[in-house]
Amino acid sequence: MSIAIYPGSFDPVTKGHLDIIKRAARINDKLIVAVLVNSAKTPLFTIEERVALLRECCAGMHNVTVESFDGLTVNFAKKCHATVMVRGLRAVTDFENEIQIAQTNHALMPGIETMFLATSIKWSYLSSTIVKEAARYGSDISKFVTPNVEAAVHEKFREMYAPKQGSQP
Ligand code: ADP
Repeated sequence: MSIAIYPGSFDPVTKGHLDIIKRAARINDKLIVAVLVNSAKTPLFTIEERVALLRECCAGMHNVTVESFDGLTVNFAKKCHATVMVRGLRAVTDFENEIQIAQTNHALMPGIETMFLATSIKWSYLSSTIVKEAARYGSDISKFVTPNVEAAVHEKFREMYAPKQGSQP
């Protein structure tokens, strides 16, 4: 039985991520989408919000589960009995960083293989950062994310920019 994990920040999940999830779920018996609690980046969404949005997006996928984790990804993979770690590759700019992570992970835990899936051309430019930048300035993000994520992102920015109670107009 092949168990794979797909780790990332998913802040928030995009249609590019979902494309990788669907394809990885087709070629593995079980796929665990693993949402990183502590990353170097300051996330827009809390860990609970990121997990909840992903669970809504993956609701119809019978062999996909969504979990959060903290610490080293290889340790979480081992805990889940996963032997495959899935990563998406968008462009050469991803490659340098991704190969370094994959080689480090292999040195730490040789029993776990990294599987790279090339992004579909349709989503090759897409990142969570682009989605947040577009939404921050009021652009339509419905092409990039599912309706639940679109609503959550707009709500987040509304909360962030809403005048604080008691403040002067
Ligand atoms: P991280 O903080 O680990 O880079 P991300 O949530 O940004 O987490 O990405 C998780 C994984 O999804 C990474 O392997 C990344 O390359 C991949 N990914 C991100 N956006 C896309 C996309 N548009 N198409 C395919 N893969 C993607």
